[in-house]
Amino acid sequence: MTLHLVSNKPSIIGILDLQGGVHEHLEHLKRLGVAYKRVKQAEDFADLAGLIIPGGESSCLSRLLNIFEIKNVLLGAHQRGMKIWGTCAGAILLASKVVGENSCLDLINITIKRNSFGSQLDSFVSEALIPAVAPEPIPLTFIRAPKIIDVNSDVNILLKIDDYVAAAENESILVTVFHPELTGCLAFHRYFALKCGLKTTGNNYDYIDPLWKNWSWTKHAGII
Ligand code: GLN
Repeated sequence: MTLHLVSNKPSIIGILDLQGGVHEHLEHLKRLGVAYKRVKQAEDFADLAGLIIPGGESSCLSRLLNIFEIKNVLLGAHQRGMKIWGTCAGAILLASKVVGENSCLDLINITIKRNSFGSQLDSFVSEALIPAVAPEPIPLTFIRAPKIIDVNSDVNILLKIDDYVAAAENESILVTVFHPELTGCLAFHRYFALKCGLKTTGNNYDYIDPLWKNWSWTKHAGII
């Protein structure tokens, strides 16, 4: 008799699709050959290895999580093993402490301060070497970004710049105050897919998509 073992291991990365920059994340996962889907309601959490909470407006996202009654579903999925990556507003939602406000999901022991660089007009790009994530410098896009101003000893710092932490993780949570999905760089999406136990196409040395343009997300570009 032959025994067929069927694996029910979740193999999809979801993007929380309530508000914010969803599409650009979908594209990056597609470029890496990772299965992805938009997550809008409780049923969508069933088969997720990971969830990306995108940038947007954290106060709005946190209200929508309550209005659509998916905050507890999200926390339950995380308890069952779903990894989570928060970019910018997403990082604010995941933090245990938000300066001057209540925390939302409280899943990583960091203190974060919203809008730490000024207004939308003070948004900027730079680059940094993050050895754990890619062998060469990674482009960074900051849009009305927060600063992580304190981390607990159970949090691993991936990137510190001047007086703040810009990327960090614990066993199940990744946070970046910048937006890798708004650059041609695939390194962070690959890093998160690996954290979720998923395979990606290519390897760590091909981490910049040479065809990426800042309008790649438009329908016209034909990517999705
Ligand atoms: N300033 C936003 C907030 O505090 C975050 C901006 C972003 O996600 N790019 O929620």
